[in-house]
Amino acid sequence: MHVTTEADERGGAGRGQRMAEVLDRSGFLFLPASAAATDAGEWVMVRTPAGRRLLVVPAPAQTALLGEFEGKRSEHGGAPFLIGPPTAANAAALRRHLRWLEPRPLPHGTSAGFGDRLGLATPGHARALRAAGGSIAPVFAQQSIREMTRTGRSPQAVLDDATWGSFEAGWTGGQGADADHLKTAADITACAAAGFTMFTIDPGEHVDPRADAGGPAELQAAWDALPWDRLEDSAASMRARLVGRAFDIEGQRVSFDEGALVKAAVKYGRAIVHVTAMYRHLCDVMGGRPFDLEVSVDETDTPTAHVEHVFVASELRRLGVRWASLAPRFVGRFEKGVDYIGDLAAFEADFRVHAAIARTLGPYKISLHSGSDKFSIYDVAAQHTRGLIHLKTAGTSYLEALRALARSAPRLFRAIYVFARERYDQDRASYHVSATVAGAPEPAQVSDAELPDLLEDFHAREILHVTFGSVLTASHADGTRVFADDLRSMLQAHPEVYQECLERHFVRHLRPFAGR
Ligand SMILES: [Zn+2]
Repeated sequence: MHVTTEADERGGAGRGQRMAEVLDRSGFLFLPASAAATDAGEWVMVRTPAGRRLLVVPAPAQTALLGEFEGKRSEHGGAPFLIGPPTAANAAALRRHLRWLEPRPLPHGTSAGFGDRLGLATPGHARALRAAGGSIAPVFAQQSIREMTRTGRSPQAVLDDATWGSFEAGWTGGQGADADHLKTAADITACAAAGFTMFTIDPGEHVDPRADAGGPAELQAAWDALPWDRLEDSAASMRARLVGRAFDIEGQRVSFDEGALVKAAVKYGRAIVHVTAMYRHLCDVMGGRPFDLEVSVDETDTPTAHVEHVFVASELRRLGVRWASLAPRFVGRFEKGVDYIGDLAAFEADFRVHAAIARTLGPYKISLHSGSDKFSIYDVAAQHTRGLIHLKTAGTSYLEALRALARSAPRLFRAIYVFARERYDQDRASYHVSATVAGAPEPAQVSDAELPDLLEDFHAREILHVTFGSVLTASHADGTRVFADDLRSMLQAHPEVYQECLERHFVRHLRPFAGR
């Protein structure tokens, strides 16, 4: 597929004469990077006391354009224009005209997903991409259903926030939109309707841990009980097809004996059935619209053995599933918001073969989940995938928001830290984290000036990372938010601070992958 560069879709000459006149006469404070023009009109984002607004100026004889947008119509010297709020309808209309804002499937090379739990990070992500150089295709809208639930955001809100952020930043280089860690068909339907183009199916609940823990008799019983009809297969034909078969993975043999096959099938058989059903549902709801499928088994208890990766890929292919990327569970620990924990040589030995399997049986991308802050493995990951990689980060942008807060509003940050410590032992349950409250600095012993340093502390970082849902949804009796409203207001009042934090942090993530 073709992904346009920023230059080829710049959409005309930026701010034209009519827009210049409206801006001069109205005195609106506008964001120059957002200026865009097509034959139908011109658009720019302006700041008003009420927040960000969209200014639309139609081209001559194109006044009907204003009917597509919500807002207040005015005119200056006979030139009509509209000033509108950042609503879902206006985001949709903007995407119709500025096509580069519309999510699309990703190109085959390196890509990176940036989760954004607050919906304000896209301009900072765009800055980091530009600063890192190279040609990394971004996914700005990326959120799991779990995160949406915890932050009280809908799929549409996640997608639209990325639209507004890309527009504000003047990002014209194309983007995907990833509905992450989908577990049900209803999740797929909702995210497809909102305009997502990448669907990450997580069959983790269907991965059977008995495969790694059970004895031979238990494994045999589990093999017999596999849903053979839904695998569109039988035990005999799977055996005949795979036992003794060796796959040539770039000169390395990955082969199945009876034991390896039974174990792989018990562990991943039901997951394959689930992914296949979800994929077929996705094809139905997309009705021919192109999309990227990602299969993620990263959140399981035990690593994905190489032979198991081969099993999953070859069986999904047999069942007609087509995917763009796959996230195995690698060796070592991928905890949220902190560096890789484990033996780097063991990681490289494991990862290298997964990358080769993806080239041989695809080619498809290896997706690196919980990819935030894994600085010590990026070079190895970039080298062995030869550019066929998707880096997925989620909560680290929220942590950068907290860093901006620690600098600009220490009292609010301190209150969040105190609250996060209280919530941590409940909130950590669904995450792979090992921090302890006892290991994190006591709030009373940290001065205001030292607060940003908490973002460098392993324990404090994980505590702040996994409590985002509690922090963002904590409410007073009257329904107002304890922290979230002030946090958002602060970030919106000091966009430079947040964007600088994001740029500095993400350049470190992106540079190892740029230009390979
Ligand atoms: Zn994941």
